[in-house]
Amino acid sequence: MDKVISISLGEIVLKGLNRKYFENKLIDNIKRALKGLGDYKIYKEQGKIYIEGLENAEQTAINRLTKIFGIIYVSPCIRTSTDLEDIKKASITLLNEKIKEEGIITFKVNTTRSDKRYPLISPEVSRIVGGAILDKIDNVKVDVISPKINLYIDIKENAYVYIDKFKSRGGLPIGTNGKGLLLLSGGIDSPVAGYMMAKRGVEIDCLHFHSYPFTSQRAEEKVLKLAEELSIYTGPLKVYSINLLNIQKAINENCPEDQMTILSRRFMMRIGERIAQDIKYDCLITGENLGQVASQTIESINVIEKAVNMTILRPLIGFDKTDIVKMAIDIETYETSILPFEDCCTVFLPKHPLTRPKLKEILKAEESLEIENLIDDALKNKIVRQIK
Ligand code: ATP
Ligand code: MG
Repeated sequence: MDKVISISLGEIVLKGLNRKYFENKLIDNIKRALKGLGDYKIYKEQGKIYIEGLENAEQTAINRLTKIFGIIYVSPCIRTSTDLEDIKKASITLLNEKIKEEGIITFKVNTTRSDKRYPLISPEVSRIVGGAILDKIDNVKVDVISPKINLYIDIKENAYVYIDKFKSRGGLPIGTNGKGLLLLSGGIDSPVAGYMMAKRGVEIDCLHFHSYPFTSQRAEEKVLKLAEELSIYTGPLKVYSINLLNIQKAINENCPEDQMTILSRRFMMRIGERIAQDIKYDCLITGENLGQVASQTIESINVIEKAVNMTILRPLIGFDKTDIVKMAIDIETYETSILPFEDCCTVFLPKHPLTRPKLKEILKAEESLEIENLIDDALKNKIVRQIK
């Protein structure tokens, strides 16, 4: 009888010929997350991934595994031979542990048998093991409708017996859907947007714009903290920091005041595109949300998007703010997001920002700007930080 951790895969199981590719990516991500926990072995057995050798770091391992995309459940199990006596012993051991924690309980045994050559069918195994439990343990009763405890037995090459199923985050393994550059502000939305695309398998790095010294060092630190919180799910990521101040000044001096927000957003996209061309990002990602503020009307989004020639993913486009806040709380970025530091967009905030910009007028205003020079200068001073 050995203690192992079982990992149930989510959508990966629906992948046909590509399944191996997704599984191997997931295994890479698991190995990265478990670094520093000691020696262990990882193996696949009929649809699940198992880890043996982490008995002494089980809680930490489970904690980390439940934050890896591509996994739906993580369970600490006892692995035994498929001999019925061994399965009974493991089941009794696990239930006794539970009773110590929770007192008198009702239970149900659930068996699945992926080895169809096994001499007993699943309900028979459940019945026999259930009987053995009733014989050996006093304070328990069977309840097949709403048991307090479900005991699971998976019969494969080995048998796996477990009770706890810790829910993980689903999605697809990071790295199976290309690389994205997340425009990360200090707000509530953009960290959630990054999380959502990472959950669909996109590897993420971040791009942040500040207006130092008009925005403070602490505002910058807040964004780095958000990136760190995001990296719990994404793994190590880079943050590119760009000072937008000279661009904002140029816009302020040369263009109509009410176009400030739209014009600076177009610069953000262009700078994102330039970095993406150098470093090979497949898309830009933003926390834009239809109708939330002036720069996010459908007209504004159209005009902002026309600045570049690459895919912009906006996973929050159709969510209500209350739902975005719920997600931010769930992924634990909310508390950092609401820290009161200024964003670069607030520096030259127009009194009445345009809500229905016309592309023609925006292009006209941009004629007075040396766009390429401004972008080159901004990129020259970019700072890149690696978040572990
Ligand atoms: P957030 O909560 O993400 O700040 P928001 O509701 O404040 O979003 P806007 O300020 O209009 O909305 O920004 C829309 C999107 O533009 C952001 O979600 C982000 O992706 C990008 N963005 C805005 N400001 C910055 C910035 N200073 N650096 C990087 N990206 C930014
Ligand atoms: Mg913002």
